[in-house]
Formats: sequence, C-alpha cells, structure tokens
Amino acid sequence: MATSTSEMRLSGGHPALDFVNTVDSRRGRWGPDLLQSLEDLVALAERLDLLDHSAASRLRSQAASMPEEADLALTGAKRLREAVYRLFVLEDVGEPYPPEDLGLVEAIAQLGRTHQVLEAADIGFKWALPVDDLHQLGQLFAIKATDLLIERGQRRAVRECKGDNCGWLFIDHSRNGRRMWCSEATCGSHSRVKRFRMRSKPR
Ligand SMILES: [Zn+2]
Repeated sequence: MATSTSEMRLSGGHPALDFVNTVDSRRGRWGPDLLQSLEDLVALAERLDLLDHSAASRLRSQAASMPEEADLALTGAKRLREAVYRLFVLEDVGEPYPPEDLGLVEAIAQLGRTHQVLEAADIGFKWALPVDDLHQLGQLFAIKATDLLIERGQRRAVRECKGDNCGWLFIDHSRNGRRMWCSEATCGSHSRVKRFRMRSKPR
C-alpha cells in the first residue's frame, strides 16, 4: 500500500488518473488519502513533470508562509480530484459523464488555460502553465483531465482496477484491451493467489 505521493505507483497511464489514484483505495474501503498537505500535491506534480524544480520550490515556500491559503488550495484540489474520479470511473461502465462534475473540471481548466504560454518542447512547442500561485496547482490537473476527455476518440476507455481494496483508474494499453488490474505485480498477483486458495480449499 502506498503511503505518500512521492512513492505511490504511477500506474494510471495519465497524470489526471494518477491524481485520482491519490486515494488508496476506492473499492471496498475508502482511503487512506495521500493528499494530506499541499506538499503532497506539489510532490506529485513534480514527479509527473507538470512542475519544474524551481516552481516546486517556490510553491513549497509559499505554502510554508501561508498555511491557510495552502489548506484552501488543498481543499479545492481534493474537490476537483473527486469530480475527475466520478467522470472517469463511469467510462469503465460506458455511462455518460455527470454534467456538474464536467462543469467543475471545465471551469478550473479554463482559469488555467487563460494563463498558458507557448513553450519550446523537444521538437516544436507545447502549451505550458507557469505556476506561481498555490491555487494554480489544481488548474494543472484540471487541464490534464480535459486533455483526457478531448482524446476520448483516439484512446482506450479508462478502466477501474477490480483488485480487492483498490479501485484505481488506469488506461488499458494492453494489446487485447482486457486488462483488469492497475498493476499485474500487485492487484493482479493478489487476485491470482486468492483464486488459487479458493480452488484448493478442501471441500
Ligand atoms: Zn489495483
């Protein structure tokens, strides 16, 4: 089980899904929540290359000097995370996206998009959001969530891990499109061991 965002598995296949997976787990039982402080969100954004090192340090010192603002930004980010979760968990069962959740994600992403700048990429350019305010952290993840929505026609559906006490979301990149677990090494092998034990129980 993951204990922090700096060591959790990034098995979602997309930053918006790794953001959602900061609750370990969502199936069977809820939690623990790995977003205990704004620092946890900064650490995740840095691991996912949404923030460079200097922006991350700037946000860390802002959070330390303005703890109340940091708490507000964290509460907003968690509200966004739950909306993103509800959107994508429904893809697995082919249900429509809830309009209120879609509206929240759209509104937060729009705030970020107005501040995006063109930045040189390895080849060509990309849109980037220079983050210098604690509240913009959530906007980074909202923009990623809208990217995932926009790409729906060109990608596989998001799946929910069926492992016991998991429920993490992931994009199924497997060849046959029938992957069941967020990770073969953890949820997949637990499930195989459990099936084996059930089969070998004396009758
Ligand atoms: Zn899993």
